[in-house]
Amino acid sequence: MTANAAADSSFELIVIGAGPAGMAAATTAADFGCSVCLLDEQPTAGGQIYRSLSRAGPTNRVNGDSGAWKNTAGKQAIEILGKAYFSGLPLIEKLSAANVHTVHGACVWHVGLNGEDGVVTYSRQQHASRISGRHIIIASGAMERPMPLPGWTLPGVLTAGAGQILLKTDGLATDNSVLIGTGPLLYYFATQLIRSGCKPKALIDTGNGVNRTAIRELLPVALHYYRPLLTGLSMLSQIKRAGVNCYSGASAIEILGDSRASGVRCHYTGGKQINIDCDFVFMHDGVIPNTHISRSLQLRHQWNSVHHYHEPAINDGAVSSQSNISIAGDGSGIIGAEASAQHGKLASLTALKSLGYDTEGQSKNRQRQINAVGRARQFQRFLARLYPPLITTEPVADNTIVCRCEQVTAAEIKRCVELGCTGPNQTKAYTRCGMGPCQGRYCGLTVANIIARESNLPAETIGTFRVRSPLKPVTIAELASLADTPPTHTQMTTATHTNDDSR
Ligand SMILES: Cc1cc2nc3c(=O)[nH]c(=O)nc-3n(C[C@H](O)[C@H](O)[C@H](O)COP(=O)(O)OP(=O)(O)OC[C@H]3O[C@@H](n4cnc5c(N)ncnc54)[C@H](O)[C@@H]3O)c2cc1C
Repeated sequence: MTANAAADSSFELIVIGAGPAGMAAATTAADFGCSVCLLDEQPTAGGQIYRSLSRAGPTNRVNGDSGAWKNTAGKQAIEILGKAYFSGLPLIEKLSAANVHTVHGACVWHVGLNGEDGVVTYSRQQHASRISGRHIIIASGAMERPMPLPGWTLPGVLTAGAGQILLKTDGLATDNSVLIGTGPLLYYFATQLIRSGCKPKALIDTGNGVNRTAIRELLPVALHYYRPLLTGLSMLSQIKRAGVNCYSGASAIEILGDSRASGVRCHYTGGKQINIDCDFVFMHDGVIPNTHISRSLQLRHQWNSVHHYHEPAINDGAVSSQSNISIAGDGSGIIGAEASAQHGKLASLTALKSLGYDTEGQSKNRQRQINAVGRARQFQRFLARLYPPLITTEPVADNTIVCRCEQVTAAEIKRCVELGCTGPNQTKAYTRCGMGPCQGRYCGLTVANIIARESNLPAETIGTFRVRSPLKPVTIAELASLADTPPTHTQMTTATHTNDDSR
């Protein structure tokens, strides 16, 4: 059931995010007769991986506009995006048939607590609404790790994820591009570009090829995931067969151009330099959990030294340090789409139990889900070792813009460290970095990494930006429209937030 606006304002369960985790959580709860509201800022369900899937359809043609971007109309969507994209259809169909109050286009910008209840405020079509729920599941997924390089703010530079969004939503692809970075999504996107008839000019991997130690240590777990491994090998062979120039061990990367990207220069294995002309650059440095909502609630988070990111601390049932708030899917630490759906179900069953539903009959499923999620986390550790992020191997060059919103460079952050800054919140006060429209979502991790490197301190001791609502930009009119919603006194949780330098 899809709602135009939330007619009811009170639910037993609120799920934020309609990706695999959120869809599975919401439909599992609905199966038990629980009143559940599912919110997502996208116009259709599917999350990142199955974005726009309900509009694409397996036999539809991908339509697109022309201009700099090539119209891929005439090709079957399945031909370009691959079968894996369409494997999300059953989840989406189940959701549309379920008794779930689903609000699409709902951008959540505040989550708080009112006594025992969670309170969620969101905007939709310039109107803000506030709803309450006895339990909240945050399934806000992942985002791409920022990859700050000289020139990365030039027009013509996109992340691989953004390029993939254009392909999924509008059937747009472009040739004369160079792909740089590392991680499975970079290779996946390269094959999608090839299949859309837009072969990239080059793929420049910042990694150094096969990490034999990772393979030896984690191969037994990885073999459980032989299907994605085989997919990976098939992607490599497609890229090779297409004749894409591939380089590895890239360092000192610069994106060239005055008013827009015109090329890439870097060194690659053996210290050799390359200079490639291109019109578009797609960057990717892996994915990290989107923790903006969980951090705004000051839930407990921990540093994951294998993945090099902060993740929320949750128990086996996906419950956070606040008993009526759970975190499922990639937002809890990267686990991939299949395990995210399992994790969503698991989070839902745990929440249902605490809401008083009889979930005894599900105990076998619950154990299966816990095991599946555990294996997925180990597989992701394997991938993290194979594809280490650039920030772990190379310092950010001084002239690189770190905070795109406030145009703060790496040199300015380094200067803050010289002046005695010990954490991201102090640099915010000195330079305004993290204070723009993205609220530090894209620069936070980079700022923390620069501080750690410059002050020679372990990354886990540096902390994160303190996140405050509104999490996304809201207009005065949207704030004023809240007067139409019954008043609810909201307050933030008081759970401890580790390593916060702002106190
Ligand atoms: C750009 C990108 C592209 C990806 N492409 C692929 C791919 O092609 N293949 C693959 O195997 N994996 C891909 N991944 C990884 C994949 O997305 C995940 O493993 C999987 O989708 C995780 O499922 P999830 O339900 O946890 O989160 P997601 O699928 O990420 O869903 C999270 C949902 O939460 C919503 N949301 C977040 N914040 C808010 C808010 N404040 N208000 C309202 N809604 C909110 C988002 O709109 C989104 O729909 C991609 C990841 C990214 C970041």
